[in-house]
Amino acid sequence: LKMEDLEVEELITVISPLISSESILHNIEFSMQLEPVPPVYADRELLKQVLWNLIKNAIEAMSEMDGGKLIIRSSFQERDGLVRIDIRDSGPGIPHYMLDRIFDTFFTTKDTGTGLGLPICQRLVNDLGGKIQVTSKGYGTTVSVLLPGLAL
Ligand code: ADP
Ligand code: MG
Repeated sequence: LKMEDLEVEELITVISPLISSESILHNIEFSMQLEPVPPVYADRELLKQVLWNLIKNAIEAMSEMDGGKLIIRSSFQERDGLVRIDIRDSGPGIPHYMLDRIFDTFFTTKDTGTGLGLPICQRLVNDLGGKIQVTSKGYGTTVSVLLPGLAL
């Protein structure tokens, strides 16, 4: 593990070509709204993996619907000092009764899913002193990664 100060904006920008090409393949309109945020302390490759896993979930959800919109946003929450990365999709959403279970190991609704993505992402983000939040209200899903922002 190589822990370092990371610029979230730069990290997202680096993986954006991958997101773009995957989006084109699945008829998804991809956009970014990156606000300048304080750096976070994490392993670069691990944090990329976390984001890519969550983005893949969003893309897979919208593929079922033949496309949609993907928005990745960064922002800073002054009130609790957390850097927030939102991954928002216009997919089918997650039924209320299922929201409790999606972080369970091996929970999947996909034919070839492993059910490992979310529990592993959650574990990694928790270890960094952060958390993952999921909001879904019948249509679309927003998965947010919250990590402590470092003082500049
Ligand atoms: P997998 O992707 O292998 O199924 P995950 O742990 O990544 O495993 O996700 C678990 C489940 O959570 C998925 O099978 C799906 O039902 C649900 N899920 C995760 N992200 C989304 C999303 N953006 N939209 C709808 N459902 C989602
Ligand atoms: Mg997954």
